Formats: sequence, structure tokens, C-alpha cells
Amino acid sequence: ADIGSQKDRVVTKEEWLRRWETGNIGFHRKQGHPLLQKYLDVLLNGRSGLRVFFPLCGKAVEMKWLADMGHNVVGVEVSEQALKEFFSEHGLPYCEEPVPEISGAKKFQSTSGNISLYCCSVYDLSSSILGKFDGIWDRGALVAVNPCDRQCYVSLMITLMEKNSSYLLVTVSYDANKYKGENF
Ligand code: SAH
Repeated sequence: ADIGSQKDRVVTKEEWLRRWETGNIGFHRKQGHPLLQKYLDVLLNGRSGLRVFFPLCGKAVEMKWLADMGHNVVGVEVSEQALKEFFSEHGLPYCEEPVPEISGAKKFQSTSGNISLYCCSVYDLSSSILGKFDGIWDRGALVAVNPCDRQCYVSLMITLMEKNSSYLLVTVSYDANKYKGENF
């Protein structure tokens, strides 16, 4: 894609944390995403009990939705506040533990065991830590990745995919020379 004038733009971790602190989270949807509903069959491809990864997960309600359908959900998010809000807003008990492989990282796991959310940067993760996934739901993730980090992000996603994995990407298409919005 021609990302034009956005090529060198960088949104820092601090800026994201600040957005959560100040409630500047217009990206969060209270209802499940209609495109996940529409393409759920593509993601599942007839399979049940999938491992589904949510990169840059925020407090996406679709994580609860898929977990309730019997899938195992793993997410990653830099904001601890976002992850705590996820569990509290759904009334889900959870426990918290350090991640030995990543200094400073924490893993928040629902007591039921089927939702594991890592609080760290997505770039700290690898398939040796997470294993591989049958599906990836990428909404508000690739579009939030700094253009300079895209290659790294894509390489990581590929290593996290099982052979018959499906990747659902919600993205936007526009002339980046004309629009300097928050999405990349
Ligand atoms: N996918 C979610 C959130 C989209 S907004 C949804 O659909 O609602 C992007 C999120 O990515 C923000 O919550 C931000 O805090 C988080 N984030 C930004 N950079 C990150 C990184 N390097 N690693 C993990 N999370 C990151």
C-alpha cells in the first residue's frame, strides 16, 4: 500500500497508555464487530475449539464472544488498564502472573482458563511463548502498527499461524497523502 506521508509517523507506547488513561478510546466498540459475525464461518472453517489470537486487543468484546463459543482466546495489549477493564466489564474473575520469558510482562488469565491476555508489546512475543493459532482476528491492530514496524509485525503473525490458520483483517483503504487520520 502507498502509505505516503504517514510513512514516518510513530505513535509511542506512552501515547497509547495516555489514551486509555484519559478515556480517549473511540476505537472501542461496545457491540461485537459486524464483520466478525459476517465472516465467522471463514474464520472457523468448520472447526471447533480453536485457538484464536487477538493482536493489540484493547478490551475487544469479541474475545468474550469467541470464548463463550468454546474457543481459546489469547490477546496482547500494552495497556494493563485495558485488560483489567475487559475482565471487570464482563464480570470475569482472573488471575495475574509474570511471564518468565519477558521481563516486566504480565499474563492475565480468566479463572475459567480460556482467555489469556498478555500485557506487553506484541514485539516481545514469539511462537515459542504463545504457540501457534488456528485463527487471528486483526481489527484495529495492523492499522495501529507504526508503518516502520509493519514488516516485523507481519513476520511475527506468520510465525504464529498454524498450517490451516485463517487471518481476518479489518482494514481501510484511502489516499494517505490526503488523509492524516489516526489509522495507518
Ligand atoms: N483491537 C482492539 C483495540 C484497537 S486500538 C479493538 O478492536 O478494540 C489499538 C490497541 O493497541 C490500543 O489499545 C493500544 O494500547 C494497543 N497497542 C499499541 N501498540 C501496541 C503494541 N506494540 N503491543 C501491544 N499493544 C499495543
